[in-house]
Amino acid sequence: MMKIADLNELKISTLLPSPKGVALALMEACRREDITIHEIARLVQTDPALAGRLIQRANSSNQATRPITSVSDAISHVGLTTVKQLAMGFSLIDQYQKGACIGFNYQEFWSHSLLMAITMQELAKLTRVCAPDELFACGLMAQIGNLALATIYPEKYSDLMEKKTSDQSVVEMERQYLKTDHNELTAAMLLNFGVPKIFVESIYYHEVPDESGFSEGSRPFHIVHLLYLGKQIANFGLAEECQRNNRISELILLGGKIGLDTELFGALIDQVMKEWQSWGRMLKISAAELLPPFQKMMNAAAPRPENETDAAPLRILLVEDDPSSLVFIQGLLANVRGHTLFTAKDGQEALSLAMEISPHIVITDWLMPVMNGFELTVALRATEWGQNLYIIMLTSIEDEEEVIKAFDAGVDDYVTKPINVRSFRARLRAAWHYRKLQESWERDREQLKRFAAELAVTNRKLEHYALTDVLTELPNRRAGMDTLTDVWSVAHRSSQLMAVMLIDIDHFKQINDTYGHAIGDKVLKEVAASMRNSARKGDSFCRMGGEEFLIVCHNGNTDAKSVILFAERIRQHVYAQQIKIDEAHIQVSISIGVALKEANMKSEDHLVNAADKALYAAKNAGRNRVFLALGDRLISCSPSKIEN
Ligand code: GH3
Ligand code: MG
Ligand code: MG
Ligand code: MG
Repeated sequence: MMKIADLNELKISTLLPSPKGVALALMEACRREDITIHEIARLVQTDPALAGRLIQRANSSNQATRPITSVSDAISHVGLTTVKQLAMGFSLIDQYQKGACIGFNYQEFWSHSLLMAITMQELAKLTRVCAPDELFACGLMAQIGNLALATIYPEKYSDLMEKKTSDQSVVEMERQYLKTDHNELTAAMLLNFGVPKIFVESIYYHEVPDESGFSEGSRPFHIVHLLYLGKQIANFGLAEECQRNNRISELILLGGKIGLDTELFGALIDQVMKEWQSWGRMLKISAAELLPPFQKMMNAAAPRPENETDAAPLRILLVEDDPSSLVFIQGLLANVRGHTLFTAKDGQEALSLAMEISPHIVITDWLMPVMNGFELTVALRATEWGQNLYIIMLTSIEDEEEVIKAFDAGVDDYVTKPINVRSFRARLRAAWHYRKLQESWERDREQLKRFAAELAVTNRKLEHYALTDVLTELPNRRAGMDTLTDVWSVAHRSSQLMAVMLIDIDHFKQINDTYGHAIGDKVLKEVAASMRNSARKGDSFCRMGGEEFLIVCHNGNTDAKSVILFAERIRQHVYAQQIKIDEAHIQVSISIGVALKEANMKSEDHLVNAADKALYAAKNAGRNRVFLALGDRLISCSPSKIEN
């Protein structure tokens, strides 16, 4: 559950970062219900910087051809709530460019917040989960609790910043030393600023979206995951170049989760980085130097297999009939760390070797004796395990038709001979990248499978509980009624016989009164078990409630004689049983009303009513006996002399 910091308890409400001037006036004004856009516009216009920023803001998300030039148009475009949030954000940026907390990098904080804001805006445009301006404002303020902590506890927070290792450890340390954490504070401040709850909650959980408990597919679920992605992208933008490379695969995967392929995702990142520059200039926040295009970072800077030491070793299968070419490529691969190389001289040899070693990457020549590279590709792709292989074809054939044919056959990439070292390395990197992504996907899929399996077990348990009586472990009334309806409709369609018995324990109230309810429960359990033990195949039992049970007889054994014999047997069985509880021996008897399905009965209710009448008759006749309802008659079926 979302925890909101209690600002009064922390005695910090007066120290919190708060907007000044026009932004403050706006916040106050927006609390009035009758406020008009006109009045808001007049307020905004008294702060030319804010007015300019709002107009620019509105144009960023404006998809119409005509640009927005007036403040009131900007306000109607962005919406009142968002205007207020933006004004707050901009005002805080101006006031808190620096501060007393030495370990806290104010510039970087705003740079990160701005980048996250812009990312959120672009994600909103792509996914249409919310309006771009709304998510921009959310991104801008998502980490405001950090600034608050730096402002309120400049020294302590400075110490914490020096010790931090990860986001999660920061939260724990904050709680330990400061009795609150940045997410709690963010939530408190945003609620105070009047940000809608759906956003506050999503922001609160955005560092650990899986803990939110939002149901999959719901709007907050989408928002919290977008915010998570937004934060990762912002971290990426601010990371050192060497760290950035490690994050690319993960980012692409996150993008894939919201349905963006690498091309769309790359375009999104490029756009975000460009806007970061221009917004940074306007808000006087330093942005990093413009990053290279994402595609380029992905292909070139990203994973260099030759530098990779911690990756699981890649198994590469090299297939080449020409010995000198084989030696040359082996030489190229020699300084690529983290792989094991296998070689084969032709397609056939490669195929049987592949089955044995299941390689991750196959680099194959095209023209070879026995089985050529094309045939090898077709053969590999025909197997199940060959689907995820990365196949690179070496070819001197520069005929485009042939290359297309190779791709159709399942080749992932090709390198022309004579081999250009740089381009060969680039291809290997792409293959490595592909493999890494695939591993993450596989992990994800495994997790999903486990999750689905757990869910299935839980569902089965729930179903069991829903249909089982807790005390006696017999099917409960609901399950019994379902069975009754099913048996009735089969019997009705096929004119089969069926019968029901209603069973009620005699003078059970006395047992409760004499021994107490707990012992009453035990007796109930024992009687239920004893009855179940004497049941036949094709009889369905259930506890109807209290000390009453229903048996539905079907699948043969349904003629009057055998049903009555069966009922008598249960009655005698229960009566003969001495239920031992501590020192006491309790004797229990039951009365049973039996009814058979008759031609004039319209529904299963009639059948049960008839059995109920018979049960009533059994009770009236002195209990501990079986009565049968037959047409209008109620017939005693137990021996006339029963010792009671
Ligand atoms: P009769 O022979 O006429 O059936 O007498 P009776 O006392 O069994 O009849 P009645 O229906 O008046 O009372 C049933 C009692 O069963 C009342 C209730 O307190 C008790 N009872 C119902 N459910 C439970 C249960 O789950 N546990 C226990 N201990 N007692 C129960
Ligand atoms: Mg060859
Ligand atoms: Mg009863
Ligand atoms: Mg009873």
